[in-house]
Amino acid sequence: MIDFRSDTVTQPCKNMRRLMSNAMVGDDVYGDDPTVNELEQYSSKKHGFEASLFVSSGTQANLLAILAHCDRGDEYLCGQDAHNYKYEAGGAAVLGSVQPQPIENLPDGRICLDKVAAAIKPNDFHFARTKMLSLENTIGGQVLGLDYLKDARALTKKYALKQHLDGARVYNAAIALGVDVKEISQYFDSMTVCLSKGLGAPVGSLLMGDFEFIEKARRLRKMLGGGMRQAGILAAAGIYALKNNVNRLAEDHDNARYLAQRVNELPGFDSSSYDVQTNLVFLNVDESVNMQAFAEVMFSNGINVTPGYQGMRLVTHSGVNKDKIDVFIDTAKSYFKID
Ligand SMILES: *Cc1c(COP(=O)(O)O)cnc(C)c1O
Repeated sequence: MIDFRSDTVTQPCKNMRRLMSNAMVGDDVYGDDPTVNELEQYSSKKHGFEASLFVSSGTQANLLAILAHCDRGDEYLCGQDAHNYKYEAGGAAVLGSVQPQPIENLPDGRICLDKVAAAIKPNDFHFARTKMLSLENTIGGQVLGLDYLKDARALTKKYALKQHLDGARVYNAAIALGVDVKEISQYFDSMTVCLSKGLGAPVGSLLMGDFEFIEKARRLRKMLGGGMRQAGILAAAGIYALKNNVNRLAEDHDNARYLAQRVNELPGFDSSSYDVQTNLVFLNVDESVNMQAFAEVMFSNGINVTPGYQGMRLVTHSGVNKDKIDVFIDTAKSYFKID
């Protein structure tokens, strides 16, 4: 299968599996797992935070961050398109009684900082208490630049808000900007990283922050049922991913640009209104194309795509290369009976 649905479909490679099978393990709820401890220490150093916590998923990492920064009746500001607002089943509200205050994202993924300032509630018992701004980088495959992050940090400092980064794909941002990841993380009180997307680990995310924050998050993780025992088998994959799979993300970005360009050869497909900055390709598809039928035929030819509604998201990752993109384009061309 050539799978364009997501970078979460990446498979652990042989070397990663070898490291996993040889990992020293212990009971991580007791703090006894040497491989989890190694991953957490490595992560803190690599990302410039005091402490790190290995958690089951990006969703759990975001939820823990919101719950650790905010109490019941508090609110956090985020983008209307933020993953931790739109795609995490309302966890902050359901499990934390924390009110999200979404603000529209600009087409480039930023949130206008004047609107952020205007949404911060004054100290008045009518309002929820505004505690935190959550940004996402990359967001919809787009990169928030360092100047913007710096301006956002100045604003949140001014209003004494915490600043959280949903950095599920922060390494795609760092690679696209050509900077060390610390150039991004320096502007945040807390940050998440997904190990299980383009970095290729099978399971897991990291949450980072200061000691006090991570201790709070550790208690909350237990409460949410996220305390794991011999988790070193998974942490070993995370260590491998951070040490070996970061720089190759540049290939995914190259391949995404190639895919975005070639997909315009298909009738009714148009990627021109989206800027490909990382590994996500968005395109418009004319209503004359039956997306469901198209996806089904692709699937029967070993190509997996998600049929969107008059649009489509295609994702590049280590399981996709230029040859496989060519196979997709050729197969799609034969579907449309063109060459
Ligand atoms: C994938 C993703 C998450 C959630 O990660 P899971 O591990 O799937 O729970 C959070 N934020 C962003 C921006 C993501 O892309």
